[in-house]
Amino acid sequence: MTLDRDAALEMDREDRLAGFRDRFRLRDGLIYLDGNSLGPMQDGVQERVRCCLEDEWGRDLIASWNKADWYTLPRRLGAKIAPLIGAGPDDVVVTDSTSVNLFKVLAAALSLRPDRKVIVSERSNFPTDLYMIEGLARFAGRDHELRLVDAPQDIEEAITGDVAAVVLTEVNYRTGWMHDMKAITRRVHDAGGLVIWDLAHSAGALPVDLAGADADFAIGCGYKYLNGGPGAPAFLYVAPRFQDSVTQPLSGWFGHADPFAMASSYDAAPGIHRFLTGTPPVISMVALEAALELWDDVSLTALREKSVGLCEFFIARVEERCGAFGLQLVSPRQAGQRGSQVCFSHENAFAIMQALIARDVVGDFRAPDILRFGFAPLYVRYVDLFDAVEHLADILRTAEWDQARFMARGAVT
Ligand SMILES: *Cc1c(COP(=O)(O)O)cnc(C)c1O
Repeated sequence: MTLDRDAALEMDREDRLAGFRDRFRLRDGLIYLDGNSLGPMQDGVQERVRCCLEDEWGRDLIASWNKADWYTLPRRLGAKIAPLIGAGPDDVVVTDSTSVNLFKVLAAALSLRPDRKVIVSERSNFPTDLYMIEGLARFAGRDHELRLVDAPQDIEEAITGDVAAVVLTEVNYRTGWMHDMKAITRRVHDAGGLVIWDLAHSAGALPVDLAGADADFAIGCGYKYLNGGPGAPAFLYVAPRFQDSVTQPLSGWFGHADPFAMASSYDAAPGIHRFLTGTPPVISMVALEAALELWDDVSLTALREKSVGLCEFFIARVEERCGAFGLQLVSPRQAGQRGSQVCFSHENAFAIMQALIARDVVGDFRAPDILRFGFAPLYVRYVDLFDAVEHLADILRTAEWDQARFMARGAVT
């Protein structure tokens, strides 16, 4: 595909989702391809947070739990996320972090399979998922075995009759590989196990159908494609069939059937609410709530179509313009196996990414050698990708990256 910049601009003019970009705060000149790490702010968010600070906390104080409906935030936000992930409105809550939610749902899953000792995941899964699994597998005298699979194609084989739970991230954070949620879930169920899907790189990036796939549990992030702000609370899904019987160990008062009865022993709330733990971070919750409003107007089919279009365009452009400089495509070439990101490996990936960032093209680096570009379809334009690739080609051709200032690593990469 040989294209000029005008062709990219024409693709943007034909883009059905083009109108959403104006709702995001993206300064002129910035090409932001890192919405899979931290989504940008939308206009309405600041106003909603200001109202929470001034009117609710600042003026009405404790009365706001009822008056401003702070109390129902976890389920209200859950109901807003539900249609993005193919869940019923009462089957999702927003609470805690993705890491903590994984602990809760994995503990719940293991309690449903007490005779089984194997937990399956991928070695390339996001580290916190693996660390949380390890923590729980060893916790309180447990002796669960963690069976890590090296290639996504080998997962089915690892799912044997001794497996209690399978924990997979639908879209791999590094490679962008997308699992077949339906086929793997069926396979896990046929083997008598339960499956937990991490949707950190799915929710808001592509359509998800948890109910259609018959998934057991799911978790995911509020601050990536859902644009809820730094450290935004996470979400958690439990299939309706388990909600009233399963237990989870972080049994705090917000998961109690009647928190304000102040009873001295725990009585789990009905439904998904038993997966809540403590007082929600209200200011972060209202920021996420305001950020979620635009999804009412988004067609997930259009979202996916544009995401695929952006990925294909970027791959073709990089291969055409940068093919001679040693970049290797790490993401699947087939759209059906790929999420909304494209990654290339290069031995100097870190410095190359720093040089790109210095030119206001923001992607990120993932150790050891990956240049990662995330494409949030609501605000990334084809022309952004055209320009990003021209910058990348320039940086590679002139070895601009080969300078001491691009080698220094901060605490967060
Ligand atoms: C980003 C991400 C997380 C983040 O977990 P936190 O608890 O919010 O830090 C977890 N899992 C995956 C797959 C991620 O990509």
